[in-house]
Amino acid sequence: MDLSTMNKEQLEAIKTTEGPLLIMAGAGSGKTRVLTHRVAYLLDEKQVPSYNILAITFTNKAAKEMRERVDKLIEEDASKMWISTFHAMCVRILRRDISYLGYDTSFSILDPLDQQSVVRDILKTRNLDTKQHNPRSILSVISNYKNQLIKPEQAISEAGGFQDELYSEIYKDYQEILYRNSSLDFDDLIMLTIELFHKEPNVLNYYQTRFQYVHVDEYQDTNHAQYQLVQMLAAKYRNICVVGDSDQSIYKFRGADIQNILNFEEDYPEAKVIKLEENYRSTKTILDAANAVIDNNTERKPKNLRSNKGDGVKIDVNVSFSEREEGQRVVQKVQELSEKYSYGEMAVLYRANAQSRAVEDAFVKSSIPYKMVGGTKFYSRMEIKDLMSYLKVIQNPFDDISFQRIINVPKRGIGTKTIDKLRAHAEQLNSSIYDAIRDADFLGIPAKTVGKLMSLLQVLDNLKEKSKYLTMTELVDEVLADTGYHDMLSSDKTLEARSRLENLEEFKTVTKEFDNDNPVADDNLFNFLSDMALVSDQDGMDDTAGVTMMTMHASKGLEFKVIFIVGLEEGIFPSRRVQFDDQELEEERRLMYVALTRAMEHLILSRAESRMLYGKTESNMMSRFLSEIPEELLESSSVFSNSMPGSSSEGSSFSRGPKKRSRIINTNTGTNFNVGDKVSHKAFGEGIVSQVKGEGDNTELDIVFKTAGPKRLLANYAPLEKK
Ligand code: ATP
Ligand code: MG
Repeated sequence: MDLSTMNKEQLEAIKTTEGPLLIMAGAGSGKTRVLTHRVAYLLDEKQVPSYNILAITFTNKAAKEMRERVDKLIEEDASKMWISTFHAMCVRILRRDISYLGYDTSFSILDPLDQQSVVRDILKTRNLDTKQHNPRSILSVISNYKNQLIKPEQAISEAGGFQDELYSEIYKDYQEILYRNSSLDFDDLIMLTIELFHKEPNVLNYYQTRFQYVHVDEYQDTNHAQYQLVQMLAAKYRNICVVGDSDQSIYKFRGADIQNILNFEEDYPEAKVIKLEENYRSTKTILDAANAVIDNNTERKPKNLRSNKGDGVKIDVNVSFSEREEGQRVVQKVQELSEKYSYGEMAVLYRANAQSRAVEDAFVKSSIPYKMVGGTKFYSRMEIKDLMSYLKVIQNPFDDISFQRIINVPKRGIGTKTIDKLRAHAEQLNSSIYDAIRDADFLGIPAKTVGKLMSLLQVLDNLKEKSKYLTMTELVDEVLADTGYHDMLSSDKTLEARSRLENLEEFKTVTKEFDNDNPVADDNLFNFLSDMALVSDQDGMDDTAGVTMMTMHASKGLEFKVIFIVGLEEGIFPSRRVQFDDQELEEERRLMYVALTRAMEHLILSRAESRMLYGKTESNMMSRFLSEIPEELLESSSVFSNSMPGSSSEGSSFSRGPKKRSRIINTNTGTNFNVGDKVSHKAFGEGIVSQVKGEGDNTELDIVFKTAGPKRLLANYAPLEKK
């Protein structure tokens, strides 16, 4: 194994195989690379059987990459090693032993839409209004309980206040319904694994003995439940290696707790701590910018990180007047840079998925290939959900949530009255609709309908048999044929039906991919469904060429030669929600740090003076994060630095004196605009003020421009001159 390219600290980390090890280091310092090599070193040099190694990554894609890299590094067979995300690992553990907890081993995993429909049902039963009690907020409360490993009974007994009490009761209902359906949500995967370990020490002992070497990447983003799980697994051998960067903790809203990494040395007093201080990813310019930004966070330990690349090119800043122009400029720049870089080497990052539309529009018009990561839209389409529901019911007949979705699709004359009767009976039996159907004769359901129910059961039972020997692609075809779903769509001549059929065809590219990797086996359907349930933010990233578009959150751990960051405006990023909360603001700044440090050679930052988002047009000031980047790192021809007052005396970010809070540049303070004033704007040209609203910094001007038409601008920030 060739370790000659590793630096001294990296080598030390690779070779420290015994005992607890913390690698705490900044972005691009080779943490993930070290982890991969350490695993390879264990296998190759230390002759540790692959069976004894566990590596936990943050995304499925990272898991796949790590396995490929390890396979490349060594000749041994590493197939018995577990490299996976927390969730995928727990699915595997639960698949074996969840029956100890009373769930069926054929359990389903709910997607967020399923979860919402369960909560809606509960609210309905309790005669509560979904407008007053937002299912999504309730689900986030439930998720918090689970991430904190708080069970419903405990939540109820500790609840203070009306809402707490209500939500903890709903949590209890929710958990009971899921149990009856042998269904788990994402957070259950972790929580129930821990419960299983508590309940069955033998099972825990099996995994503790098996996983003699435990690794966790991106440890700064583990939540309490994940933390507990790692502790339990590593307790026997204490060979635990975690890597992370507290400046990159960006998942607090999902319960991530930065203290997990900060307390590692307390948890393991014998731990060795290694710092990596050389950044191999980014040019000095990019790194200086990132360091200067993160330096504004007060709750952090400063750290050294130096680039081993040269200065590189300066950072571009673009100011556009609308989000549409911003998109066009991105595309223009992509075109320019495509002489030097391939499309696959470029990525566009944004704060919120909704911002992607304007950029995407521009890509579509330019015919530059692009790929969008995340956005689970495809899977939430009706026909795909229907098909998935069929597959889930075939896999897990107790899954009422899915069953109710397809029981009368296509129309079989099974009405709501019948379904209500079945549900009530199922509840009485403490069982599922599937079971209740067997008693349909006695429930006062018309004989004709009973016949239809029975034949539906027959179809599903047959499909279950078929699932054992067909490929997933074949199974999907059979499901669509046998259930009448395909006929329903093909007999409908509307465009909509045709596009639904096309989407179902498209779905088969997913099943084909699965079939290529998995020979036909008994539990293919289960594995396919859990793979689908675990699709994560980064998984839309296939290997096809094209510019990548994704949220900053999804970009964690990745790197690109060229990075665009769009929407650098106050209210967008940092988002409006967090502007008055210091801790949240620091979290957003860490997100900016993550985004900036994805870039290897070229950074293009942009903002728009007015933006239409969520159906509203707004004018936002420049993001404070943008103004935290020292001016000398910015391309001087960029629109931004032209309009900036000359204050470049700060020197480099390292030598900077006392911390400077954000400086939002204020171009026109002092100028009073009145209706009727003639003005000239840098980009829009000449115009007349038609309305003045608001006061001070918030003064808004409606201006009708000669060529650009009417615009609403902020008086103090728009590049305006009175004529
Ligand atoms: P992040 O915090 O963003 O997850 P990281 O610390 O995990 O970053 P890696 O992704 O492992 O960093 O490494 C960043 C880049 O630097 C990769 O392209 C990697 O191959 C390269 N790299 C790391 N160490 C070395 C080295 N010793 N020699 C050459 N290249 C290196
Ligand atoms: Mg990494």
